[in-house]
Amino acid sequence: MARQRLGQHFLGDIGWRKKILKTLPLAPGETWLEIGPGHGELTQLLAGDGRRVVAIEADGNLAAGIRAGIENEPDAWPGVEIIYSDVLQADLGKLGGERFHVYGNLPYYITSPILHHLFQWAAQIASIHIVIQLEVAQRIAAHPGVRDYGYLSTLCQFYAQPKISLRIPPGAFRPPPKVHSALVALTLPGDGAALGISDPPEFLEFVQRCFDQKRKTLRNNLLEISDDAHIHEALAAAALRPDARAEQLSLAQFAAIFQQLT
Ligand code: SAM
Repeated sequence: MARQRLGQHFLGDIGWRKKILKTLPLAPGETWLEIGPGHGELTQLLAGDGRRVVAIEADGNLAAGIRAGIENEPDAWPGVEIIYSDVLQADLGKLGGERFHVYGNLPYYITSPILHHLFQWAAQIASIHIVIQLEVAQRIAAHPGVRDYGYLSTLCQFYAQPKISLRIPPGAFRPPPKVHSALVALTLPGDGAALGISDPPEFLEFVQRCFDQKRKTLRNNLLEISDDAHIHEALAAAALRPDARAEQLSLAQFAAIFQQLT
């Protein structure tokens, strides 16, 4: 039975599983991390061709089900390893080897914490493919000046190039979620790589502060960390008006102000 607490909406429709699979950059011999394999809906399709698939599942019964499958029918699960754990507690640095890929039909309520967690290992990740709530996918892929653009867009675009690959209706899942879904492909590295930022977490904390209160101007959001005169100068140096708002700024403009103020 699906456990709402763990965001369990299984991809019951084989047609949608195959559509997702077609979008993935599968190559022989690579390592894939799967977040929340469930009953193995996509795990067995990911496996094969000498690939290593490390699947992390937080539901003990589901993890045990996959473990039993691997033990009883190893040929049906080639190269699959199952880890019973909360992915947010997993040390992904231990996966080792070359840069790895990530797939997950995520528990929607922890999409943002999972992305933060993954980006800690950005240098070791080649791409991330996640099924998430459509509305969140649109925020991740949004550009400056549109309503959906916010901190989550800048975080994801700092580390990766996001693209919505598929829109998926509720009927593809069992039980169906109340919202529409999308598959998002994030190819690393992102625009942050060219900005010369030495401490990405500190920079992203700064960007988050800029978005703190969306209705406030950037200047007002920044008054907690600097004085008005410095903020004014930094905005002018970045060719921004004194009443600029965070949702209008590109990553490069955030970086210019950050470098002036810190
Ligand atoms: N992969 C399956 C599919 O596509 O049908 C299941 C996807 S279901 C939306 C989310 C899965 O993530 C469930 O199996 C759930 O138990 C698991 N899960 C929830 N929270 C998790 C966490 N913190 N760490 C790892 N897995 C988690």
